[in-house]
Amino acid sequence: RGRRGPDPSLAARRAAAFGPAVDPLFYDEPVEVATARGVWITDVAGRSYLDAYNNVPCVGHAHPRVTAAIARQSRQINTHTRYLHPAAIELAERLTATCPPGLDTVLLVNSGSEANDLAWRMATAVTGRRGGLCTAFAYHGITEVTAALSPEGWLDGVRPEHVETWEAPDTYRGRHLDASAFAAALARLWERGLPPAAAILDGIVTSDGIADLDPAYVRELVRLTREAGALWIADEVQSGYARTGASLWSFDRFGVVPDFVTIGKPMGNGHPVAAVITRRDIVAELVGRATLFSTFGGNPVSAAAALAVLDVIEDERVLDRVRGTGLALRSALAEVAADHPGAGDVRGVGLAWGVELVTDPATREPDGERAKRVRDRMRHLGVLVGTTGRHGNVLKIRPPLAFDETHVPALAEALATALTLTR
Ligand code: PMP
Repeated sequence: RGRRGPDPSLAARRAAAFGPAVDPLFYDEPVEVATARGVWITDVAGRSYLDAYNNVPCVGHAHPRVTAAIARQSRQINTHTRYLHPAAIELAERLTATCPPGLDTVLLVNSGSEANDLAWRMATAVTGRRGGLCTAFAYHGITEVTAALSPEGWLDGVRPEHVETWEAPDTYRGRHLDASAFAAALARLWERGLPPAAAILDGIVTSDGIADLDPAYVRELVRLTREAGALWIADEVQSGYARTGASLWSFDRFGVVPDFVTIGKPMGNGHPVAAVITRRDIVAELVGRATLFSTFGGNPVSAAAALAVLDVIEDERVLDRVRGTGLALRSALAEVAADHPGAGDVRGVGLAWGVELVTDPATREPDGERAKRVRDRMRHLGVLVGTTGRHGNVLKIRPPLAFDETHVPALAEALATALTLTR
């Protein structure tokens, strides 16, 4: 087959096939991808890009142990989940073994949205309430339930009646650092006659602009939630699976034990598999009241993929790598930012970093327009990053966990060049 070069009609065919509301592609010139391995993506013209953006290929693109597990299981059997098969059961056992006592029950689904949707449904059923809390620019999914908890994409920007939001901490501007915004959101729900069922938080608040949350802050949020008789959902879709380097889960960094842990994206290294981890007493309340069945959830091939990812995280000592690389990445990014006043803040943890661009470090006015240009310029320099935050002015650096210290200089150099060229 060999290299063929870009297909000039593909973008137009995509637009025609998916319609005008489909999410836009990344970059001024979208990358037409062909193959990938580790932290490298190769396009159809044979050019390689350092992937510093992708948290889905958690242990690296096309990890041979994951692809082998998928292939092996596909040849044996793949089916729905009404038969006995050890893979899903072993997966559930392995997941609960990574959690504190009490988080002993697993429901397997197919996407982060489904996991959050199910957690929310259980929370409302168990509490008999329907008020919900999320951060002010959160994203938790595409279903009706989870879209309501996703101000980033509310229909026409309108807040659903049962939801209240709180501003995530903005350490750069010293705003919203304590739990008072959360307490006020809780109070608003009560005032409106909507007792809270649950609060949901992404442990690195990715779509709000990325933050290394203070454990005491999160503990206070959880305390207030429980005091109000509500349940805590730790959305680990972005922050989980070793991303922060602390353990498999970001909630461990905070010293809290959630009522629900949800995970998707990285769990199958690109294969769709997701989960809710919760307590037996919560699930027991739903017996005979609701169906929690998913046709594909925990099918043997998905479970085999997820088991292989857990094996790799253990055997390759991924947590150690994330910790070491995270430190190297932080100092490299800080060094670049020191030379470029427009790069006002560098923040993050593990392998999740944000570089916030501002028009002027004195006013700290968000510069989303430049962030886009820097991102596109980096793409042309062969390094893929994203943007996030309410103003789209935070460069999102969130590579596969195969990213190591040897990759840091190339990323830092591309960032420095892009900042110079977009001044
Ligand atoms: N939660 C968070 C924090 C996410 O970032 C996302 C996806 N961006 C989701 C949930 C939804 O996951 P999915 O797209 O797999 O449904």
